[in-house]
Amino acid sequence: MAVKKTEAIVIRSYPLGDSSKILTFYTKEFGKVRAVAKGAKRTKSKFRGNVELLNHGFLVFFEKPNRDLQNVNEFDLINCFGQLKQDFDQTTYACYCSELVDAIEFEGGVNQGVFSLLIDTFKALPAAKDILLLVRTFELCLLNETGYMPLFSHCISCSDLLIDTPAKFSDRLGGLICLTCRRQDLHSVSISLESIKLLKTLQQTDISVPYEAQVSPKNHQELKTVLFSLIANQTQKQIKSLQFIENLK
Ligand SMILES: [Zn+2]
Repeated sequence: MAVKKTEAIVIRSYPLGDSSKILTFYTKEFGKVRAVAKGAKRTKSKFRGNVELLNHGFLVFFEKPNRDLQNVNEFDLINCFGQLKQDFDQTTYACYCSELVDAIEFEGGVNQGVFSLLIDTFKALPAAKDILLLVRTFELCLLNETGYMPLFSHCISCSDLLIDTPAKFSDRLGGLICLTCRRQDLHSVSISLESIKLLKTLQQTDISVPYEAQVSPKNHQELKTVLFSLIANQTQKQIKSLQFIENLK
């Protein structure tokens, strides 16, 4: 049994009996770690309420090889993102971002870029003028970091360059298709040139310096359609917090 120490973010939390919690951490050094925090729900717990969803802290756990569930020994708080948690929408979208990290599978599983992306997003949310634009940027950055970088500059079928060229989005092919290739997916959907430009811009955006722009409801809807489709292709899972967000509208 080895003692492991790393920075970590609590991305999921479930009760275990009356007093304990099963937690999923996204850690800087070991990727996703599932662990039990024994007695975490007791008022006099050694965790002092630190093992809450979205908290960033310094985790010490005992690693038992070949076990799916580890034991949390310590979790010292670095940042509880108090400002974010005072706002319902920001908290909901931060939970959505955490759930996406949990759901998306990628090779190796250890990715410090994903770890930093989550922290930078939580820090950026309270200042964001347009939360949805920030969340779309997060989704694109997550796809890039995990190796599923979508191409918005070329037709996914014939590879022709798309510069100010009308195109459609193919859910089945997972990218943009030029009008010559549109017969390859009769269910492809329209996407405006403005939305294609926005996708390219957001893909190049550093989330700690978020892109600010006036985005029309139509463009927002198109960005959402494209990103949800690309994410669904990668996760193959239903994102529960997304359904929750959709039900609020
Ligand atoms: Zn084409």
